[in-house]
Amino acid sequence: EERSRLLEEKNELILERNMDIQAKAAELEQSTRYKSEFLANMSHELRTPLNSILLLSRLLVENNHGNLNKEQVEYASVIQGSGNGLLTLIDEILDLSRIESGKMELEYNFVQVEDVSNEMKALFAPVAKDKGIAFNVEIQQPVPQMIETDRLRLLQILRNLISNALKFTARGAVTLRIAGERTDAISFTVEDTGIGIAPDKQQIVFEAFQQADGSTRRKYGGTGLGLSISRELARLLGGVISLQSEEGKGSAFTLTLPLQQAAAATVTATTAPQ
Ligand code: ADP
Repeated sequence: EERSRLLEEKNELILERNMDIQAKAAELEQSTRYKSEFLANMSHELRTPLNSILLLSRLLVENNHGNLNKEQVEYASVIQGSGNGLLTLIDEILDLSRIESGKMELEYNFVQVEDVSNEMKALFAPVAKDKGIAFNVEIQQPVPQMIETDRLRLLQILRNLISNALKFTARGAVTLRIAGERTDAISFTVEDTGIGIAPDKQQIVFEAFQQADGSTRRKYGGTGLGLSISRELARLLGGVISLQSEEGKGSAFTLTLPLQQAAAATVTATTAPQ
């Protein structure tokens, strides 16, 4: 009898604790929702004035009809550059808050792999050329011609990985390698011969606002949001991003995506994330 009384008491305690945990979880969910809403509203409010800053500074740079001297045009282009940086930050924060609150809407379409490759070449070949490094795109046949995914989000992830690769590489090459992984997945590997990432930073760089070089006087600009957004987008698309890197030698980020949305679950289950 004593035993059953004790058991009952124990059960009650467990029940109480469960209710406690549930209340805490609900509270947490609520505050996450507030945060996301706040961020979404703020981003929207910030954009409106920023748009006029961007528009007017562009007019000053491009259409000043010789009314401004060289120094003044330079000031205007600094305003434009900083404004663009701010816009990127706002867009990234908005993306992240959409992802966190489960409001990121995806639009699936059939995407030609060749188109993706051409688009990346058109976008990044000039940037690479400016920096004096090579930009190669290799399609390792046999590769499926078409994949079913959200085109814009796929391009966003690749843009992020390739612009990072170019940013952290001073000489050598950046390569986008597209390969058919198994029968139901495709991989996009962005490889560089840049500064690389130390083993103890390889997880951290995927976290929001985290950079491998955390010092305040760091050499490279950026928000530290790109990789965390990319990893979350990859997950939403049913895929994963993994990283292999060696300090001083270079990095390779691999995005693996299912060929079709129906296969999404198997890619996440069988491709171990880093
Ligand atoms: P950002 O580039 O704006 O700092 P990211 O989230 O895209 O933000 O990247 C986070 C950090 O990961 C970078 O600051 C950098 O330290 C590291 N990193 C990302 N890509 C590379 C790369 N290709 N080579 C070396 N370091 C990288």
